[in-house]
Amino acid sequence: MTDKDQNVFAGAFVDRSGERRKDAEWLGDALDSDDTRFVPVWQKQCLVAGEPGSAVLLERTQLGRDVDERDLIFLGVFRDHPAFAIAFDDEEAPFTDLGEFRQLRYLGTVLPPDEANLLAHAHALVLWHASQVYCPRCGSGSRPDAAGNSRICINEDCGKQIFPRVDPAIIVLVAHGDRCLLGRQPAWPEGRYSTIAGFVEPGESVEDAVRREVYEETNVRVSKVSYHSSQPWPFPSSLMLGFVAEATTTDIELNDGELEDARWFTRDELLSGSCKLPFRISIARRLVDHWISLGDND
Ligand SMILES: [Zn+2]
Repeated sequence: MTDKDQNVFAGAFVDRSGERRKDAEWLGDALDSDDTRFVPVWQKQCLVAGEPGSAVLLERTQLGRDVDERDLIFLGVFRDHPAFAIAFDDEEAPFTDLGEFRQLRYLGTVLPPDEANLLAHAHALVLWHASQVYCPRCGSGSRPDAAGNSRICINEDCGKQIFPRVDPAIIVLVAHGDRCLLGRQPAWPEGRYSTIAGFVEPGESVEDAVRREVYEETNVRVSKVSYHSSQPWPFPSSLMLGFVAEATTTDIELNDGELEDARWFTRDELLSGSCKLPFRISIARRLVDHWISLGDND
C-alpha cells in the first residue's frame, strides 16, 4: 500500500514525541513559544477555514484567555511545531472570527491527509478525557497526567493510572467468486449497503471476530481471512481493522437482527449504482473499491 492509498485519518503525520510527555521543562518552553500551535475542539467539532477547508491551528496569543495548562493535551510535533489540543465547552462557539467548527466526519472529506490525522488525534483525546472524569477503580475524581496522554486517580491511596482506550472493530469485505456480501442497517439512508462490521470481543482474535460477525449477521461462513489496512475512527474511539475474506457458504439469514438486509452483489451491480456505497472516507468504501479493482484482473 502506498501513502496515496492511506485511509483517511491515518498516517503518522504527528511525531508523538512520547519522551516529552513528562518533560516539564520542554513542555513549559513549548507552551511559551510562538512556534507552538493549539488545536481547539469545541463540542466534538474542529475549527476549519476556507474552501474546501484547512484546519485552523491557533498560536498562544490567539487563545485569548487564561488557559489552565493542565487542560492542554500534548499531541506531539506537527510540521515542526509543538502541537497541543485544547477543549472548549462554552455554549457559544469560540474563534468564530477565524473559522467555523465542523464535524470531523465531514472534515475527513476535505482536509489534507496530515491535518485530518492531527484532528482525529486531538478529537479522540478530548472525547476520552471528557469520558474519564472518575476513577474506574475507586470512584474518586481523576486528573490529566503525562501532558494529557493519560489520567491518574486523585485519591493517593488508589493512584490508578488510566490510559486512553481504543476499541478494535473488524470490518470485512466477504467475497464468493464474482460476488461480494454487503448488508444494510435499518437506520441508514435508503439503498445504502456496506461491508460487515462489529467490535472484537474479549478473548477473541481479530480473525475469530471476522468469522463470528459474518456468521452472526448473515449466516455466511468464511474461511481465508486476509488483512487489508486499518483506520482510526474516533467516534469516539474505534480502530477499524479491515479484512477481505472468502465465503464457503452463500445462504443468507439475518441471525442476530442487526442488519435489515444482506445481499450478494456483482461488480457490475456495484458499478451501475444499484445500491448506494459507503462514504468515500470510510475504510468500508476502500474495501469495496479494492475488491472491484481486483475484477480488472479476472
Ligand atoms: Zn482511584
